[in-house]
Amino acid sequence: MNLKFKAFLLVFKHPFGVSSNTRNETPTVFIKLTEGEHCGYGEACLPVYLGETREETIIFFRKAHTVLAKISAPLNLTEILNTIDDLSQVNNAAKAAIDMALHDLVGKMRAQTIAQMYGFAGAEPMSTSYTIGIDTEVKLIQKINDARDFSVLKIKAGTENDQALISFIRKHTDKPLYVDVNQGWKDKVFALDMILWMTTQNVVLIEQPLPVAMRDEMAWVTSQSLIPTIADESVKRFKDLQDLKGVFSGVNIKLMKCTGLAEAIKMIDFCKENKLLVFLGCMAESSCGTSAMAQLIGFADYIDLDAPLLYKNDPFSGVAYEKGKVILNKQPGIGAAPKANFLNTW
Ligand code: MG
Repeated sequence: MNLKFKAFLLVFKHPFGVSSNTRNETPTVFIKLTEGEHCGYGEACLPVYLGETREETIIFFRKAHTVLAKISAPLNLTEILNTIDDLSQVNNAAKAAIDMALHDLVGKMRAQTIAQMYGFAGAEPMSTSYTIGIDTEVKLIQKINDARDFSVLKIKAGTENDQALISFIRKHTDKPLYVDVNQGWKDKVFALDMILWMTTQNVVLIEQPLPVAMRDEMAWVTSQSLIPTIADESVKRFKDLQDLKGVFSGVNIKLMKCTGLAEAIKMIDFCKENKLLVFLGCMAESSCGTSAMAQLIGFADYIDLDAPLLYKNDPFSGVAYEKGKVILNKQPGIGAAPKANFLNTW
């Protein structure tokens, strides 16, 4: 196999604010994996807070290329992914890109979708939340209008003004809200008070209200909360799921955290067996990474897969959006393809 990579800067339509920072763009690195006449695409999406740089990611791809160059069809997906995983303790986004490209490649070789490859049913269209970052009141109104097709909004919170923020949003829409605190609250009693108040405001779930280190406090909050609590920063990979029961009600699984589709499927299985809610999210990937994750929406209780709509220069096409729902296509592999002008640059 041959691995090529291409660095790219995804540019947001509006600056995107979370509790720790605001950004205008997301660095990403796309890869193309070729074997014979087929190729597969993948994406390592690298928002700064993820802690994985473009330089480290490219070094990992160079290392992976030397390994993959020695492998040719027939491809054993599990074996290859284990070898890639062993190359480093970190680089989860880079590993996710390789996992995605491999699934895409093998899917195309076999003319199968991801669902067909794993033997599960294809998914019906599913409503995704539309993410609204922290912003000024004028911009918030603009974003609420942008989200008119969507039946649920995901609100980035985690500042001292969250009550004012939610009250303001409530003046402009009565849609159900997912609230993502991004570890922004620092006290368990404050967190519970906020959650109980938000419950009266049609907030239907709360994501990562407390810092990762406040595990015991988080378990207390979950035991008192009337709405589901969802882990995000607290859970990266499968191994982090083992002790989650009782601490959160569910988990936000993202390809960039968990190293890709193979591990995401393992995590979903664990969640189903242990009655944990499954939230499928993203790190604001293009249509490439988002289409890969969307292959698993049939297993999700909630999804937040609106990222391609937040960008003005998405170089891939993939899942479609209609009336706020994610719709899978029938293409083999991850269901994404580079747009013509980007394809020409490879
Ligand atoms: Mg989150």
